[in-house]
Amino acid sequence: MRPFHYSRPASLAEALLAERRASAADPHTPMAFLAGGTTLVDLMKLEVMRPQRVVDLNASAREHSAIQFDGSNLRLGAFAKMAEVAGHPDVVENFPVIAQSLSLAASAQLRNMATLGGNVLQRTRCAYFRDPSWAACNKRSPGSGCAALEGANRQHAVLGASEHCIATYPGDFAQALLVLDAAVLLIGPDGARTIPFGSLHREPGDAPHLETNLQPSEIITGFAVPAGPWARRSLYLKIRDRQSYEFAVASAAVALELDGGIVNDVRIALGGVATVPWRAHDVEDMLRGKVLDEARATEAARVAFRTAVPQSHNAFKIALGQSTVVRALLQATSMEVRHG
Ligand SMILES: Cc1cc2nc3c(=O)[nH]c(=O)nc-3n(C[C@H](O)[C@H](O)[C@H](O)COP(=O)(O)OP(=O)(O)OC[C@H]3O[C@@H](n4cnc5c(N)ncnc54)[C@H](O)[C@@H]3O)c2cc1C
Ligand code: SF4
Repeated sequence: MRPFHYSRPASLAEALLAERRASAADPHTPMAFLAGGTTLVDLMKLEVMRPQRVVDLNASAREHSAIQFDGSNLRLGAFAKMAEVAGHPDVVENFPVIAQSLSLAASAQLRNMATLGGNVLQRTRCAYFRDPSWAACNKRSPGSGCAALEGANRQHAVLGASEHCIATYPGDFAQALLVLDAAVLLIGPDGARTIPFGSLHREPGDAPHLETNLQPSEIITGFAVPAGPWARRSLYLKIRDRQSYEFAVASAAVALELDGGIVNDVRIALGGVATVPWRAHDVEDMLRGKVLDEARATEAARVAFRTAVPQSHNAFKIALGQSTVVRALLQATSMEVRHG
């Protein structure tokens, strides 16, 4: 690991002020915020991320780590730990897709340490990205090429890829936020703002090193999740190479509102198969107002992957992703949901 300057400001306001001064003095020095450190420190040890300034936000985190539910809206502090949120009774009862996406992620030790903000900003697990001895990685070194295109790409994306990068977005929680139409609460040098979760991540296009639409030095302070009529009938189905401590090969988050067996509303997001958390809007439109049986779920899954482009080692992800969508939709229709 390379030497770096470490600071631990007492509040987010202090962190932002110090950051404004530091970047005005030297705008080109790479910096990173530290939350749980389970992604950042890993990547610093591998010399994939090389910040010269590390700003530890943990001292200022207390005010942004609460979990609050008022019956209509859930507010999750960005510094809440994954394990706390996964086990919170309001989350388990009213937003099962959130609880499941978090409890199926990583390991117990990691979930006790890792925060929600860090989780949604985790970097890809592409082996070429994580190993700087491979020169060709446009995400790590813009313009250097992409070793995965001709290499071991079994884990890579079939949706949202470009000729410059085919890396998969690896997280689980993001798909839950996406199906629930969550918003991201941000604070930065220019003040506070809120954006839809769906506009946080960027597809790789010709600039795979730009992964989000965050402004420089912007900090995620929390997530606002409306308790829509689909939130209680929601679930996360994760398919992986082994049953624990593994990233998704394919996953589906589903939130469903049924009225006498007819779909009033449905939301579907896919994980493990795309470059960003992937919302299947087309499929949602075709299911509204219909009875959701196996034939319709199968057709929906086909449509969800109609733009998929397989790489040399991952064509299996299309069939696997489709089966995951079918299973998730059918499981959601048969969930026992308590109203009120
Ligand atoms: C072995 C292993 C297995 C894993 N398996 C899974 C899995 O199955 N599913 C899954 O979803 N995840 C998995 N993870 C990823 C894990 O969940 C993330 O590492 C973790 O959630 C990151 O949170 P953190 O608080 O530790 O973030 P950090 O490592 O502190 O930060 C991550 C990044 O986000 C930035 N950041 C952090 N917080 C903020 C903020 N509030 N505002 C702005 N920027 C911020 C940091 O600068 C850094 O770039 C796994 C990780 C490991 C090491
Ligand atoms: S897929 Fe993306 S992250 Fe992986 S080697 Fe290619 S450019 Fe790098």
